[in-house]
Amino acid sequence: MTSLPLIQIAPDDPTGSPSRRAAMPPRHLADLDLSGRQAAVAELGEPAFRARQISTHYFGRLVRDPARMTDLPAASRDRIAAELLPPLLTPVREVATDDGATRKALWRLHDGSLVESVLMGYPDRVTVCISSQAGCGMACPFCATGQAGLTRNLSTAEIVDQAVYLAGVAASGAIAGSPSRLSHVVFMGMGEPLANYARVVAAVRRLTAPAPEGLGLSQRHVTVSTVGLVPAMRRLADEGLSVTLALSLHAPDDDLRDELVPVNQRWKVAEVLDAAWHYAECTGRRVSIEYAMIRDVNDQPWRADLLGRLLAGRSTHVNLIPLNPTPGSRWDASPKPVEREFVRRLRAAGVSTTVRDTRGREIDGACGQLAAAAVTR
Ligand code: SAH
Repeated sequence: MTSLPLIQIAPDDPTGSPSRRAAMPPRHLADLDLSGRQAAVAELGEPAFRARQISTHYFGRLVRDPARMTDLPAASRDRIAAELLPPLLTPVREVATDDGATRKALWRLHDGSLVESVLMGYPDRVTVCISSQAGCGMACPFCATGQAGLTRNLSTAEIVDQAVYLAGVAASGAIAGSPSRLSHVVFMGMGEPLANYARVVAAVRRLTAPAPEGLGLSQRHVTVSTVGLVPAMRRLADEGLSVTLALSLHAPDDDLRDELVPVNQRWKVAEVLDAAWHYAECTGRRVSIEYAMIRDVNDQPWRADLLGRLLAGRSTHVNLIPLNPTPGSRWDASPKPVEREFVRRLRAAGVSTTVRDTRGREIDGACGQLAAAAVTR
């Protein structure tokens, strides 16, 4: 990795340096599967059924505050709260736009790190976009998160708790015109999910295990997005999960991708696409290709044609993302006619293509805008 001075990868497991370990939060029930919770309550001298009881509160009823778990005797509740329900996310600010259908939450973590999540209501579904790291080490120059660098990996429970909290907001009926039940989770917030591999995979398992072990979402409704960490993509293909993989491609040629997605200097377009097709083969899931449309940078007709040739005949869908503005960026979104021509050429090559909506732009909550600044708009 010496050729990649810009990219930062935090140690992925507790064998990391002591300073990294110290930054991780206390253990929470969402870090553990049900049998792990049973062992943990037994260690506290509590009967094993308490594990199911607290899990039903947390995952089944979306109750995160131990004080509201009133069917537990007070003494047990205090013991269990101290050991398995430490507060992980302190809400700092919530902002809404799109008539309340898009909400961004800013959280402070136990060590002062800041992260953001976004809740999006649609007529037929509710999606939460969650963060997997505080900051990001991947250094993509058009992404606000990438500019500040990596602070640390989030724990499994810090990842899951974002979804559980916002599922509770949705359940309260806060999003008019949308279902009240959270149905979709996308790992498209801050951070590179596959650089925090073990915790992200555990979080996926918690989100998709049936209640009360987990949140009971369909695996098909969970999307993990990556810059293209090839070994981790291949490992994910072997997990026996059927989550959707999204690959942030952004350029069909190595010259440009080396610049836009610096990790391309390590794993080239051909290798990353091979890993994507391997994932599609192993899981039977179509891989999403994300492509931010940047004026005069990656939006030329010849690049559309090259991309079409790379993707034709594959099990894939292209999501074009109009570039969202970020502070200090020298780039703009492609003009609409250029975008339309890009779509036309991809479709002519037989590649399924859509343009993603730009939910949350006004609150700096759209793709690539999450910077977790304590004072923004
Ligand atoms: N690190 C992962 C997860 C982030 S997902 C990944 O890169 O896939 C966020 C998506 O928004 C990625 O596809 C990212 O490349 C894209 N993105 C980043 N900055 C953007 C911007 N300014 N406008 C539009 N999309 C952007």
